Amino acid sequence: MSDIEWNEQWRDGAEHQRTEDGICAYPGCDHPLDAGGLCRGHRGQRDRGVELRPLREVGVGYVSISLRLRPETIEMLRAMVTPGRTLSITARSLLEAATGTLPPR
Ligand SMILES: [Zn+2]
Repeated sequence: MSDIEWNEQWRDGAEHQRTEDGICAYPGCDHPLDAGGLCRGHRGQRDRGVELRPLREVGVGYVSISLRLRPETIEMLRAMVTPGRTLSITARSLLEAATGTLPPR
């Protein structure tokens, strides 16, 4: 659904119930209301003037663990970090590749 179509629905009150329940009006979003009928993430999209889209669910489908690594290993990992990625993402990709569990793109 385009932002324009969504806005038409919003004006028609089709998503009104969600905000009454304290839920973001964007279809499929279950985040709590911030202001203007939207959650913080969707309000941010609106404020930036971009078409509203589903929020990226950080961490969904993953289990968190803690690792104790030797400084040399961390140094090596840091050297492998590419722009836009974090040390954690780099380490995860390497582990997924080594175990044959890289997710499909
Ligand atoms: Zn939302």
